[in-house]
Amino acid sequence: RQNAINAVTNYTPTVKPLNFAETTPTEVFGANVFNDAVMKSMLPKDVYKSLMKTKKSGEKLDPAVAGPVAAAMKEWAISKGATHYTHVFYPLTGLTAEKHDGFLSPDGEGGAIAELEAKLLIQGEPDASSFPSGGLRATFEARGYTAWDVTNPAYILENPNGTFLCIPTAFVSWKGHALDKKTPLLRANQALNKAGQRFLKLFGDDSGDMVVSNAGPEQEYFLVDRNFFFARPDLMVCGRTLFGAKPAKGQELDDHYFGAIPRRVLAFMMEVERELYKLGVPVKTRHNEVAPGQFEIAPVYEQSNLATDHNQMVMTTLKSVAKKYGMACLLHEKPFAGINGSGKHLNYSISSASQGSLYSPGATPAENMQFLAVTAATIRAVEKFAPLLRAVVASAGNDHRLGANEAPPAIISIFLGEELAEIFNQIELGDLKGCDAKGCLELGVDTLPALPMDSGDRNRTSPFAFTGNRFEFRAVGSNQSIAGAQVALNTIISESLDFVADEIEALTKKGTALNEATQKVIQEIMKKHGHVVFNGDGYADAWQVEAAKRGLANLKTTPEALPMITGEEVVKVFEKYSVLSKDELHARCEVYHEQYNQHIQTESLLVVKIAKTIILPAAIRYQGELAATAASIKAAGIEPRTTLLQQVTDMLRDLQDNIVALEGVIADTDDSSVEAEAAYKTTKTLPAMLAVREVADALEGIVADDLWPLPSYQEMLFIK
Ligand code: ADP
Ligand code: MG
Repeated sequence: RQNAINAVTNYTPTVKPLNFAETTPTEVFGANVFNDAVMKSMLPKDVYKSLMKTKKSGEKLDPAVAGPVAAAMKEWAISKGATHYTHVFYPLTGLTAEKHDGFLSPDGEGGAIAELEAKLLIQGEPDASSFPSGGLRATFEARGYTAWDVTNPAYILENPNGTFLCIPTAFVSWKGHALDKKTPLLRANQALNKAGQRFLKLFGDDSGDMVVSNAGPEQEYFLVDRNFFFARPDLMVCGRTLFGAKPAKGQELDDHYFGAIPRRVLAFMMEVERELYKLGVPVKTRHNEVAPGQFEIAPVYEQSNLATDHNQMVMTTLKSVAKKYGMACLLHEKPFAGINGSGKHLNYSISSASQGSLYSPGATPAENMQFLAVTAATIRAVEKFAPLLRAVVASAGNDHRLGANEAPPAIISIFLGEELAEIFNQIELGDLKGCDAKGCLELGVDTLPALPMDSGDRNRTSPFAFTGNRFEFRAVGSNQSIAGAQVALNTIISESLDFVADEIEALTKKGTALNEATQKVIQEIMKKHGHVVFNGDGYADAWQVEAAKRGLANLKTTPEALPMITGEEVVKVFEKYSVLSKDELHARCEVYHEQYNQHIQTESLLVVKIAKTIILPAAIRYQGELAATAASIKAAGIEPRTTLLQQVTDMLRDLQDNIVALEGVIADTDDSSVEAEAAYKTTKTLPAMLAVREVADALEGIVADDLWPLPSYQEMLFIK
């Protein structure tokens, strides 16, 4: 520990500062992306046009384009120094996976040529037996296929140790089952496009523009010096501290948030941004977060599929660049107990090219009517499928964060802001008073109230908050792929848009005017689902009570939440919109349970190991020192005070007892099913781990500092 502290204190940057004057960010942006401009310059005109049709209007890919595209891609990549290509995919682990193949092919005459065949662009066959499939792919049928995702651009990953071409792909089993995060997202996007266009048509939009969803994920993370990181097996293996007494100074002073960014961190951020610019990721915002050692990076929002790949790139880039600056980037949702955790605020909207965000109150009465209808459809979807939204952000890590007085509670509710909530309230009551206040938009329809232009107030405690032209889903964990949340949102909102369209059509067919029909449908929705709207303090205990009264689910742990993925209603809507089949949902549910169990299993084993081999010996050494001192005092003829020795001895006994108890719990595990095992882990293993930790942390408070082996919270969080 002392060596680590010395190394940190003597840190001198080894990286030369970046010179932004040499090449400006605008020159750098997208330099390593096989983007539309590059394709336009390199591809035959008809091939380019055909590809754009697939990209921009979702038309089926003409297989004939693969040949010319593969050739151009290879040429471009080699000119950038690439030697290999890889199909990049996103397995259910939530990580980014890549399998590298060389461009080099023997020419049969002792030489070699560089090539990328069309069929290798379109489809790859990674030996995928080790990726989780939840039983969809028996190990003997290990083959999974990666299929080229035409909608996202290929790119080059530049690396001093090797440069390669990355081709974004979806990952499916030989029977076509989705084994990844991307496939259902592409399917859900299709569903949303269809339902969205139908909906807009009802409100007079015949443009035929695609309806898409957008995401702007705000990524939170911690930075810790690598010397400390390697002195903490728990951080290295689990990404979070399993031990550690609360520091005297935590985040209480609020002196870090938005404060001056430490210089080493600033240099790191600049390089992260530059690397991401090259990959075409439009990162924009950076700042200190609430906890010491915590920061945030946010891009400008993009369409869901691209934003999702880009967020994966953000996570990998944060990790790899941190190393260069002698730090480790922690993406765990709760690396330090008692200190704010990290989430990923998913800013989410639905839009079309001509209308922009459908969550923007418009300038005309007709637009505002449509806005209210879309928002009502969203309220309905979120209420109806609240447990699903909780389930798609469930993980062992996120369980520590949700509901921990800093992150939204596990109860899914919607914040609308006072004005908008009032309007929906009035529609529900059928008592539309209108609004005369300044800053309100006139709807110009007698029966509809005016709309606030910007319901500007922010509520940080809500899991799903309206923020002017989008919703912000704040329950996503910092380590998670943002795909799952978007798959769920796009699917349930598609269903809700169709529901609203059906209801309105039924009324207009009977002769009701569109205005009146829409109002009526919104009124019905609010009566049935309006109780999901909550504008108060989500952190307050009173909300737990109130939410229960309203019948809102409060699924505190992953084992409670995960089974919601296979609930009857969920299966029905996912099958109806061809996003995930019943089998695929069950497989996912199984995989996520396994992941949870594996996480806690690893953590519990490490608690035992660290307690036995690091903490216990340190405390025993201290006990020995105290005993020897007491003995020599006594030998000198003075009666020693032995209170401290007694205290350490008692705590050592407790520590040993608790370790033995934890070992018993680990050995006894219930593995009759993944669900049973998960429940056991939550109710038995986690508390037993905590019991060991409590004594260990108390010992940290009394054992001599020079004997304490693990870097402390204070050191990890405050030394820059
Ligand atoms: P704040 O911290 O105030 O929420 P940030 O600037 O950190 O704001 O992040 C807001 C995120 O929301 C950005 O990624 C931004 O691009 C994104 N965003 C803005 N408008 C939309 C929209 N219509 N749809 C989706 N995301 C959006
Ligand atoms: Mg935000």
